Amino acid sequence: MGRDYDVIVVGSGAAGLSAALAAADAGASVLVIEADTQVGGSSRLSGGHFYAAGTSVQRQAGVLEDTADAMFEHYMTLNQWMVEPSVVRRYCDLSAPTFEWLMGLGVNFPTSGVYPSGVGSTPRGHQPEGEGAAVIQVLDAQCAQRGVEMVFDARVDQLLTDPHGRVVGLGIAGDEASSGAVVMAAGGFGANPELLAEHYPDAAAAGNWSWYIGSPMAQGDGLKLGQSVGAAIDGQNRGLLLVTPGFSRDLEVLLPGWLILVNSEGRRFADETAPYTVLGGLIQRQPGSVFAVFDEPARAAAKRNPMSQAFWVNEVLEQKANDGTIVRAESLDALAERIEVKASALIGTVDRYNGDCERGVDSAFFKRQSSGMRAIETPPFYGVEVKPAIVCWTGTGLRIDAHTRVLGSDERPIGGLFAAGETVGSLHGDRYIGGGGSFGPCIVFGRLAGQNAASFAAGVASG
Ligand SMILES: Cc1cc2nc3c(=O)[nH]c(=O)nc-3n(C[C@H](O)[C@H](O)[C@H](O)COP(=O)(O)OP(=O)(O)OC[C@H]3O[C@@H](n4cnc5c(N)ncnc54)[C@H](O)[C@@H]3O)c2cc1C
Repeated sequence: MGRDYDVIVVGSGAAGLSAALAAADAGASVLVIEADTQVGGSSRLSGGHFYAAGTSVQRQAGVLEDTADAMFEHYMTLNQWMVEPSVVRRYCDLSAPTFEWLMGLGVNFPTSGVYPSGVGSTPRGHQPEGEGAAVIQVLDAQCAQRGVEMVFDARVDQLLTDPHGRVVGLGIAGDEASSGAVVMAAGGFGANPELLAEHYPDAAAAGNWSWYIGSPMAQGDGLKLGQSVGAAIDGQNRGLLLVTPGFSRDLEVLLPGWLILVNSEGRRFADETAPYTVLGGLIQRQPGSVFAVFDEPARAAAKRNPMSQAFWVNEVLEQKANDGTIVRAESLDALAERIEVKASALIGTVDRYNGDCERGVDSAFFKRQSSGMRAIETPPFYGVEVKPAIVCWTGTGLRIDAHTRVLGSDERPIGGLFAAGETVGSLHGDRYIGGGGSFGPCIVFGRLAGQNAASFAAGVASG
């Protein structure tokens, strides 16, 4: 029996377009189905940073020693080995070659955009010119050149299987299309509160503070469609949450250095300017609520900066203190009472911190003085609760093997079904590896899924 396409790709983000391109390059006829009215999903809105080791751009930037082995060791250690080693290994091994492939297609990654994007010192983050939108534009144009077909405003709601359980096509509102293989690249579920509650309780715990920065189409369809044909789910409660005082739905990456964070015991517990990859997790481990504490001169001097654009600005802080969102008190004693921490603990914490400010070194957490560290000594004093609540991406998803084959609960690949991007769950651990650690794997596994789907479809056709 004939089929409509060799490979059908669900989703036109970085993962889906990479898959479509690679499948077309392998000789497959390819259809991309996109639920939205435009191409690109969350990828188009993103920074497009790519986390990779051993690239030509790193070498040009003077990073001569980095390797896939070093990246693998760092990745596994950071996540205490609680990730799928074979999948992580594949990402590390393919990160540089796939990065070079992307550059070869026309995406420009300047040497000035190479930076240490995670908690390690090795610069593995690569920032593209034009951010995620430029990457999507290049991939989209390359797909068009190769005759990849695309339909928009079409939300896949069914996977079709044959009597052996092999995926042989899909359905949209009663219409069907058949294929030799399907690549699921439908993104994450950051925009779906029910799935956040089910799979990402740390995000759901932030209640109505929680919001997702990406496409409203990130509804978790990939998970649901995969599950409908028996796919296993990997990586419960994983993703990335940024810390916020919840004043508004503005993206904020880092806290300013001029405040301190205290837990319900009145103690500091971190360098407040710690990388965003770890700060949210540290806050989650604290007993009770966490408050940012600062004083009047810090508030008055608070200026807009590129990383904290919306919240930590003097006028906004004044307004939030006036409307009671921020607690304002004339003494640390009074502040402690209002934010419900023990006064002696808060005063002791501030004393110790002030002493460190005077000596010019944060003896407890090594916060850099250049981050704006300053003593907290002049009333009024302020306290405002912060929470890890801004959902950047979700890490729970379909279980895959190192060949991007979706695995069933029996650990066997589901014939004809491949997956890549945020839809998959086997890559991310408790800690985000760093900027580029989601977009990079989307391209790496998207390309691989396209190649493998094309080869599977060719095998089915000839066999
Ligand atoms: C503002 C922002 C900045 C970011 N910056 C970075 C960064 O710099 N580096 C990094 O590593 N990560 C970053 N991320 C995260 C990263 O961009 C995403 O994880 C990644 O782009 C997801 O790519 P994807 O292809 O898996 O999914 P998407 O790009 O979301 O694509 C999935 C597509 O599938 C479509 N779809 C969904 N359901 C269906 C269905 N049923 N039928 C048909 N189509 C469907 C969607 O409409 C969407 O177009 C950022 C995210 C955001 C939102």
